Amino acid sequence: MKALAVFPEKEELRVIGDHSMPELTSPHDVKVRMLEVGVCATDREICSFEYGAPPQGFDHLVLGHEGLGEVVEVGSAVSTLQPKDLVVPMVRRPCNDPECYSCREDRSDFCYNGNFVERGIKECHGFMTDYVVDHEKFLCKVPPELRDVAVLIEPLTVAEKALEQIWQVQQRLPWTNPEAPNEQGQHRAVVLGAGPVGIMGAMAFKVAGFDTYVFSRSPAPNPKANLIESFGVPYISCKTTSVEEMARQVGRIDVVYEAIGVADISFKVLDHLAHNGIFVFTGIPGYDPPIELDAAKLMRNIVLKNQAVIGTVNASRKTFQDAIRDLGTFMEQWPEAVRAIISGRYAVEDANELLMGKATGIKNVISLTGKPAEA
Ligand SMILES: [Zn+2]
Ligand SMILES: [Zn+2]
Repeated sequence: MKALAVFPEKEELRVIGDHSMPELTSPHDVKVRMLEVGVCATDREICSFEYGAPPQGFDHLVLGHEGLGEVVEVGSAVSTLQPKDLVVPMVRRPCNDPECYSCREDRSDFCYNGNFVERGIKECHGFMTDYVVDHEKFLCKVPPELRDVAVLIEPLTVAEKALEQIWQVQQRLPWTNPEAPNEQGQHRAVVLGAGPVGIMGAMAFKVAGFDTYVFSRSPAPNPKANLIESFGVPYISCKTTSVEEMARQVGRIDVVYEAIGVADISFKVLDHLAHNGIFVFTGIPGYDPPIELDAAKLMRNIVLKNQAVIGTVNASRKTFQDAIRDLGTFMEQWPEAVRAIISGRYAVEDANELLMGKATGIKNVISLTGKPAEA
């Protein structure tokens, strides 16, 4: 069977023809024919051989973690899925440590020891292949009407987990008015970054009732800024507007959702977080030189303004389900904007250019069915 694999030792990325066909090995297993897999910065990092690891005993890793597939076979004990169901697979699989309380509770997104594996990233083959097998609990059913955009669900889980964490952390104070918990404009959110995680984050914050703004690098107008403004979120460029000016324009910043992966601008914005505000980091910066920072001022602010600064990675089954629900809402409200996030669909043979060439577009998708679906 065909698969797109990275060979870290040889520093090679190529399509292999002899990836073995997976079979059901437990009554809860489900066999899935892969339809589409999204490409992101993590894949590009793996293809620059900075990150990622093949499964034990292999010299290669099959890529792909942003998957969408169709069930073709179910084990005898599978109760939640049947053939022809559309599914999005979760990425992380739990560690084996009996003392890892999170993994034992099916919350490997909070694994204590880092010994989890991740499909298409760390020690477990991914989804850029014809068929995969997984336990039903790692497969999330997607309604058929989301078929053409469901490949966006995995990257949307970043924002969903951030939102879930924000609501949980902010229970530390009387944050919401119980009479009107979703009142528009009650809380103000600044999204840093205008990649797919930022764009869908802006949609998710808006749908959750936040007065939402995007602050990112490219000067407007540009295609991402236009897309963001098309669903009613103002786009502010840090090339033409300073952080101070942005903070003045926006007003009280209750939440910062960081999806830009750049320390410098993130910490400058943290400086403007309001009293009782929460700052959520989701980006992973490169190994850039250290930046200068007024640490004492930062510390004073965090204490005297009751601020929370948290990081979040990976997603639970619940946040996948939240993403499926919200993607449905986005499609009701802004179908054209959602479809425009998918900038291109490519055959697996084009992957080298997509993964090792210059980054272009917003979300590029590899179609595994031969003929790319109509967007
Ligand atoms: Zn990704
Ligand atoms: Zn664990």
